[in-house]
Amino acid sequence: MTNLKPIIFSLFSVALLTACQGAEAPVKESASSTKTEATPRVITKDDKFTYANYDEVRVTHLDLNLDVNFEAKVLDGIATIDFEKVKPDADMIVLDTKDLLIKSVRVFADGKPEGVTDYTIDAADKVLGEALRIPLTDKTDQILISYRTSPKAEGLQWLSPEQTAGKKHPYLFSQAQALNARTMAPLQDTPAVRMTYSATLRVPDGLLPLMSASQGAKDENDEYRFEMPQPIPSYLLAIAVGDIKFKAINDHIGVYAEEYILDAAAEEFSETPQMEEANTKLYGPYRWGRYDMIVLPPSFPYGGMENPRLSFLTPTLVAGDKSLTNVVAHELAHSWSGNLVTNASWRDAWLNEGFTSYVENRVMEELYGERRAVMEQVLDMEGMKRAISDAKRPELTHLKLPKDMVHPDEAFTLVSYIKGANFLFFLEDRFGREKFDPFLKAWFNDNAFGAVTTEDFLSYLHENLHKDNMDAVTKDEIDAWVYGPGLPDTARKPVSDAFESVDEQSADWVSGKVKAAELKTDAWSTHEWLHFLNNLPEGLSEAQFAELDETFALTGTQNAETAFAWYMQVIKGGYEPAYPELESFLMTVGRGKFIYRLYGALNASDREDVQLWAADVYEAARPGYHPIAQRRIDDIMAE
Ligand SMILES: [Zn+2]
Repeated sequence: MTNLKPIIFSLFSVALLTACQGAEAPVKESASSTKTEATPRVITKDDKFTYANYDEVRVTHLDLNLDVNFEAKVLDGIATIDFEKVKPDADMIVLDTKDLLIKSVRVFADGKPEGVTDYTIDAADKVLGEALRIPLTDKTDQILISYRTSPKAEGLQWLSPEQTAGKKHPYLFSQAQALNARTMAPLQDTPAVRMTYSATLRVPDGLLPLMSASQGAKDENDEYRFEMPQPIPSYLLAIAVGDIKFKAINDHIGVYAEEYILDAAAEEFSETPQMEEANTKLYGPYRWGRYDMIVLPPSFPYGGMENPRLSFLTPTLVAGDKSLTNVVAHELAHSWSGNLVTNASWRDAWLNEGFTSYVENRVMEELYGERRAVMEQVLDMEGMKRAISDAKRPELTHLKLPKDMVHPDEAFTLVSYIKGANFLFFLEDRFGREKFDPFLKAWFNDNAFGAVTTEDFLSYLHENLHKDNMDAVTKDEIDAWVYGPGLPDTARKPVSDAFESVDEQSADWVSGKVKAAELKTDAWSTHEWLHFLNNLPEGLSEAQFAELDETFALTGTQNAETAFAWYMQVIKGGYEPAYPELESFLMTVGRGKFIYRLYGALNASDREDVQLWAADVYEAARPGYHPIAQRRIDDIMAE
């Protein structure tokens, strides 16, 4: 615990820890030679979270030409849209927008400018935003929309210089998944539609812009030009702008970050090339050219976001001991599951997240062995059981989510991730790895650059694996996983010897047989610490809390996962000496996985003084949180 190298960061101020020397510039990428054609597929409109009429007209390419304006906190410029008619007589294209100021719409017909055209914008819906309807003629072949984003766009967080490590320059980063690409540009914001994109960005001097694309060099006009030749769904559109440096890990993998954390991050993620090899060995080639990562400021609300060619990561992964790099394995795995083969709607989110969590665990096993992989399975399983019991209604614990879900946030629980992964563990166990591994590899290959539904997967499973191995599983068993609530009793029951030994020691300490100092924790990994802390029994005395804290210096630990597990116990047990450090954690970490549950536990306290304390902390911390986190915690605190 104490051997972890501390990384100190804050939503508001960051200590400068290291001076970077000689960051290498990334190799300019040549055109990718991988196959990029979208799999032709008939799409029925089955995504209720979009206004787009993608069953009639589909966007094929988006070009952005934007000023990144930090003073006004807006992106301002022109979106140029290429499209194809799915229905030849379609006379209108409907795009998603949210909080965008549309200044004008012009069209090209037969390759010639036609001038401005009329358009309509529907009344705003709180979740979906505003539909932009543009009439088309037989000859319309391109649409130019002059627009600007809102300073309050939920997909964009604008940080002041004080909120960055370097303190000299502001910072911008985006988060488009699930419905926020429409706060960045007018487009068809559904995972069912894939488009290529290009962008020209103008940014203030001293700042480097990056996108989920080939990273552009500055040209003679001081503009940065980006190309994304592989078709992607809109939620993978991404931008980051800041005082960002680069460090290579190998010839096609590297890390971008603010200087204070650059060397530490490159060291923490130094095994990414082996992860890529393991993925490639199991599931076929990496098809996206470069794979880079960017470590964002601590207000980034997620562990990671799988933006293609450039995963976005929270700095809380930089623990100093590579114990949290499964998140890198996860984001990289999305290069196959999610980015290459994409859920057609958020009702099928497990096809992205469950597959990815499964692949992540297989890669961790390849790299670090079964012991670590099983520990991660057990920890995940504990989290998933909690998610199932926390679900607002049983339908939200099905893998195929119900038609009447109210927001895609409901899809991003551990049900999609870990129940989804466990469904695949179940299939792997029943069919055997020698059959299941080639089957999954073929699934990724056959559906590359396509959008898929749960039903697509089930029929592919039947045709390519089940049909010839009918004894392995029954249809009822499969249906219980996909269309039934909770965790089926056919689930794998992972057992970790390492955790059993932790449990024995823990029981001895709880019963008073041994002192905390006598626990044999020297060889414990972060995983064993998490298991120990998560499973402490109810009703520990203040003296027992104090003994643990004094022996292991848990309060204020710089490993964010361990800190989070400890603070959850602190709240449960009402151990007040830890509250000042809990407050500083809430003020400095914006990762939703931690802060949503911490605020939830504080707000659910039966002590009014604790609830009031939490409300005060939130009021102070809120301006530093990402707009997505603000919305989520506003809801939590209103409960
Ligand atoms: Zn994921």
